[in-house]
Amino acid sequence: MLKQAATPALSKTKINISHRMVHQRVTIIGSGPAAHTAAIYLARAEIKPTLYEGMFANGIAAGGQLTTTTEIENFPGFPEGLTGSELMDRMKEQSVKFGTDIITETVAKLDLSSKPFKFWTEFNEDEEPNTTDAVILATGASAKRLNLPGEETYWQQGISACAVCDGAVPIFRNKPLAVVGGGDSACEEAGFLTKYGSKVYLIVRKDHLRASTIMAKRAEKNPKIEIIYNTVTLEAQGDGKLLQSLKLKNTKENKEYELPVNGLFYAIGHNPATDIVKGQVDLHEDGYVKTVPGTSMTSLPGVFAAGDVQDSKYRQAITSAGSGCMAGLDAERYISELD
Ligand code: FAD
Ligand code: NDP
Repeated sequence: MLKQAATPALSKTKINISHRMVHQRVTIIGSGPAAHTAAIYLARAEIKPTLYEGMFANGIAAGGQLTTTTEIENFPGFPEGLTGSELMDRMKEQSVKFGTDIITETVAKLDLSSKPFKFWTEFNEDEEPNTTDAVILATGASAKRLNLPGEETYWQQGISACAVCDGAVPIFRNKPLAVVGGGDSACEEAGFLTKYGSKVYLIVRKDHLRASTIMAKRAEKNPKIEIIYNTVTLEAQGDGKLLQSLKLKNTKENKEYELPVNGLFYAIGHNPATDIVKGQVDLHEDGYVKTVPGTSMTSLPGVFAAGDVQDSKYRQAITSAGSGCMAGLDAERYISELD
């Protein structure tokens, strides 16, 4: 867990910008594990897919969320671990090896009202659209942040939005840690962090948890978790290198104070990147794309979704890759039925 490298990931690979108006069979939007796994399956099935990897789409470099972290220790097949960027470089290499056409552009607009579907990238928004028979939406999600003073300084230097990903790093071992949020994620992450930290504070802005009863009870009963209600976080403080404390405010008593912690984990929800399909495919209330359970099919035939954009629960590289595989296979079947 270190700061994001200044150089975007996938720097070894060539940037490919295309302004030709073309018809594609399967268009994959996104560049994380879901997108590349779908691409590998489709390319090996000799349906040459086109993958739009985005150009800092949704504020994330091509390669997706894993490019914002360093060591990945829980992706099977790499017992020594590898960096997130290296993992994504390898996935991209594998997509290209089997014939995926990768375009370094962000898909700005999709029109799914008639077939073939139409889409425009950020570079051809005023021109004739490209068309495609099928779309795989693998645009991912981004964790919500508090945007506190000090957050940029200590992001990935004590502050994280993924306890499962970063909790085990040495800077958190036997140190007091804090989780902000009151939902199931916050309770789950607080419980998970008790394995590493000396104590975990769960900072909740209201006077109750939003989490399900079972998750809330588990957090309340855990002797290593202290729940601090009616409290908002005002500032992240440290020595300029690592986080050391938080400035908090008890909103009931209108009292500010400092809490020494070496880790701050956000569990205040995620924003799935669904702007381009809003109003065109069914979304859950929290904005995630609805898929038919056990498949990658959305409410619209020919449009498939994979990865974090349709998964509010697991949000891991391996689950994204798994659902990318499903989308590749579902899209392949859809195309062969069209043929
Ligand atoms: P994402 O990785 O979210 O990538 C989506 C990509 O699509 C982005 O690059 C985005 O720019 C692009 N995009 C979005 N919109 C468009 C568009 N309109 N046009 C073109 N491109 C677009 N998981 C683990 O399993 N192990 C870990 O150790 C781990 N560590 C993590 C550490 C951090 C700091 C974070 C934030 C996450 C971590 N995760 C980890 C979670 C993991 O990164 C995600 O679950 C996974 O990357 C989701 O993959 P995805 O394919 O859904 O898309
Ligand atoms: P939720 O949206 O359920 O909860 C977000 C929490 O963050 C809420 O308590 C909210 O507070 C708090 N919050 C939001 N913004 C801020 C802010 N600016 N400052 C302080 N606190 C803030 O998200 P989750 O990620 O917890 O859960 C998402 C979905 O995933 C849910 O359906 C959940 O049930 C599911 N899930 C299930 C799990 C399981 O069953 N094991 C594990 C993890 C997730 P407030 O309550 O005041 O609005």
